[in-house]
Amino acid sequence: MSQFLNLTIEKIHKGLTGKKFSAQELTQHYLDTIQEKDKDIGAFLHITEKMALEQADVVDKAIANKEEISKMSAVPYAVKDAIMVKDVPCTAGSKILENYTAVYDATCIDKLKTKGAICLGKTNLDEFAMGSSTEHSAYKTTKNPHDLTRVPGGSSGGSAASVAANECIFSLGSDTGGSIRQPASFCGVVGLKPTYGAVSRYGLIAFASSLDQIGPFASNVEDCEIVFNAIKGIDKNDSTSVELKQENSKFDIKKVKIGIPKEYFAEGIDKEVKEVVEGMIEKAEKNGAKIEEVSLPHSKYALPCYYIVATSEASANLARFDGIKYGLSVKGKDLIDEYFKTKTQGFGDEVKRRIMLGSFCLSSGYYDAYYSRAQKVRALIRQDFEKVFKKVDFLFTPVSPFPAFKLGEKMDDPLRMYLADIYTISVNLAGLPALSMPAGKVGKLPVGLQIIGNHFTESKILQAGKFIETIL
Ligand code: GLN
Repeated sequence: MSQFLNLTIEKIHKGLTGKKFSAQELTQHYLDTIQEKDKDIGAFLHITEKMALEQADVVDKAIANKEEISKMSAVPYAVKDAIMVKDVPCTAGSKILENYTAVYDATCIDKLKTKGAICLGKTNLDEFAMGSSTEHSAYKTTKNPHDLTRVPGGSSGGSAASVAANECIFSLGSDTGGSIRQPASFCGVVGLKPTYGAVSRYGLIAFASSLDQIGPFASNVEDCEIVFNAIKGIDKNDSTSVELKQENSKFDIKKVKIGIPKEYFAEGIDKEVKEVVEGMIEKAEKNGAKIEEVSLPHSKYALPCYYIVATSEASANLARFDGIKYGLSVKGKDLIDEYFKTKTQGFGDEVKRRIMLGSFCLSSGYYDAYYSRAQKVRALIRQDFEKVFKKVDFLFTPVSPFPAFKLGEKMDDPLRMYLADIYTISVNLAGLPALSMPAGKVGKLPVGLQIIGNHFTESKILQAGKFIETIL
């Protein structure tokens, strides 16, 4: 068993090519771990055991035939259940897709399959990725591996928890307003929200198309980087995707200017969380980084702006779940009645709330006052970032104002739940990349640091993240 302790992608590659273990043994070890631990954690919705062992066999045969294997061969991973894996259920955490099986692979899955990585299963999420605790899943409650009485964050809570519980090496999530970074922070793992367009969204069930991005979770920054490099790039099936230039400049902390947005350290943040993040910033400064206070003056409008843009887009995207094309279909006396009954039964309360809010914001008579105005505010938020990135390389901020909260604590107060995203949503509105990585703990609960960079500077952000890891 000890050969499976503290594995990384690099160590797996060495272990396989050095014949310390086979892909079958490795895969079986992770499947056994899921069997053992997931009873308590509840990270997984579906386990793809047969498919995983078959793929492992392919890798073992390649090794036996002395073929060269890729670095990601046999690396076990988990996928948020909003990303399609062919022939595997894809529910988006919703009853409306309970019986839906994906008919194609998302582009990121296709890329991982080609590289030989092994999918172990699909992970729990808030229904249609709407939430910050994974409690809005129609199926189960996922628990935080650091404290089983607390939430793992959301909406990609299952993906974050599966990495934190060592049930896999990495996982994929999606981030529309913080859904990779906030659960990464709550679960003490690394999560990257790439620049809008860096990773193809083809095969991701859409929540808010102008904000959604797929990204990786891992237990360290290097693994996160390897996965990001494996899934990024232009895709003919997503016209918003782009090819990233390879950045090779050397990272030198002494040449780095870090901006600290004062609005992110003002009222509302827990004192202990603030201390952990400020402690990390001090360490970076001691190591030679230049620290400068900056301002993002429109931050105060980010939350209302996000909840108008995101719900408006969601109301349009979710119109396709009508009981005719996919999933649940409830018979009615006519077509309209069928739509009505299917949606009433299929969607949960939070999803219904958002569809109503979004439809209202887009409706004639209110469009100008809400949707159109939110778009203008979005432009101002984006300009705030453009201005500060003329002066600094990165922004260091908290990920969340508080550590993982208790299960049930915010379930009957949507506004309090929405506040969990206060430091993450602006990044999506501006289309920027950001990394969430462990910075310390409050008691036994992890606290994340958010490193925000300019568009398409993932490689710089990841280099900064690796440096921060060394001084932690
Ligand atoms: N928590 C935010 C929301 O509920 C963000 C979700 C996400 O990024 N998918 O909208």
